[in-house]
Amino acid sequence: MTTSAELFELASRRIPGGINSPVRAFKGMNRPPVFMERAQDAYLFDVEGNRYVDYVGSWGPMITGHADRDVLAAVRARLDNGLSFGAPTAAETTMADLICEMIPSIDMVRMTSSGTEATMSAIRLARGYTGRDKIVKFEGNYHGHSDSLLVKAGSGALTHGVPNSPGVPAALAEHTVTLSFNDPDGVEACFEEIGDEIAGVIVEPVAGNMNCIPALPEFLETLRRVCNEYGSVLIFDEVMTGFRVAMGGAQAYYGVTPDLTCLGKIVGGGMPVGAFGGSQEIMEQISPLGPVYHAGTLSGNPLAMAAGTTLLNKVQVPGFHDALSQRVETLCNGLKERADAAGVPLVVQSAGGMFGLFFTAQSRVDNFAQATACDPEAFRHFFTGMLDQGVYLAPSAFEAGFMSSAHTAEDIQHTLDAAEKVFASMA
Ligand code: PLP
Repeated sequence: MTTSAELFELASRRIPGGINSPVRAFKGMNRPPVFMERAQDAYLFDVEGNRYVDYVGSWGPMITGHADRDVLAAVRARLDNGLSFGAPTAAETTMADLICEMIPSIDMVRMTSSGTEATMSAIRLARGYTGRDKIVKFEGNYHGHSDSLLVKAGSGALTHGVPNSPGVPAALAEHTVTLSFNDPDGVEACFEEIGDEIAGVIVEPVAGNMNCIPALPEFLETLRRVCNEYGSVLIFDEVMTGFRVAMGGAQAYYGVTPDLTCLGKIVGGGMPVGAFGGSQEIMEQISPLGPVYHAGTLSGNPLAMAAGTTLLNKVQVPGFHDALSQRVETLCNGLKERADAAGVPLVVQSAGGMFGLFFTAQSRVDNFAQATACDPEAFRHFFTGMLDQGVYLAPSAFEAGFMSSAHTAEDIQHTLDAAEKVFASMA
């Protein structure tokens, strides 16, 4: 048998860090990543034959569980027709219709091959539409790895961007203004100062890349109001929240309507897909109707459309999200009760089908500063203890957890039993 440790060593010779996306590394967890062999329903199976109840779900797409039979059947049915044509297919219109029905703020939509491309293109569109350069993002929000959005947060109400990744030109980063998440006053102050230079505001309405931090309703309402007032484009990055926190995404969950929405993950059913869409007036600025360029060799790929439309049809079944949220609640309440009983300080937060665990004595966590004030050692201990008992959590204290409809009551009970043991060892 080849072990994960051996595979990691081999991978590390040819692939920087041994992984193709940093979130997969177990750096900081003091062990090599687990190499997976296959997945089914709520479970991952590693190369050593171990089974894990999975709360990563490929970082979000697997909302009905792994290897969903309907999704696989749809992909198989398309497979023999060819993988990609570089010409339009009816499947793209089916997908567009479905997205527009499920998210009413979207009149028109373009497909991409990743969430990064979706946010990058939405930013370009906001800039092209308004004729302005500056964008606002929030500390701890992640929108993919395009240059304009890889800007680290500063503290304070108004921080002009600085690059946090070498390779991002300072001249570009200076157009990205980073503000504190869930701070309506900071947003107001920023707009009062430079509102007429701001092309758009991009936000994760439930921040899932600094653990799980739902926006406060008044924060999103302030964003909507100032964008209206100053003619800036409000962009909801729903790559993670889309079809997960509610059928219509976070905008349905909160009742706040953005101008543009970015999608990914679930919209591709596990294939490499993203999308961005919004009002017809803005979307008509996209090439070839308008001057703002967007393209992609594999955008709207027929297999990806088959997987994505099949999954979207499954999640729009009435009651799907209520049942998903119920599972999250059972898990979160059970974890909180067990942590309290063991005297382990834990804050549990959730929105629809996503949740977060913060090892902290704070009463709640609303922003990046509070998220980074949590106890990293406690998380590491918890993560390791859970992994050893067959529960796969994200290997980082700054990632949300994802529930699927394939998680059974027994899976959740197994998770709670495992957690009880780990909490006992932490007390
Ligand atoms: N936006 C959000 C909110 C995300 O969580 C991610 C990825 O996790 C992205 C954008 C980037 O998507 P991708 O990894 O498909 O490029």
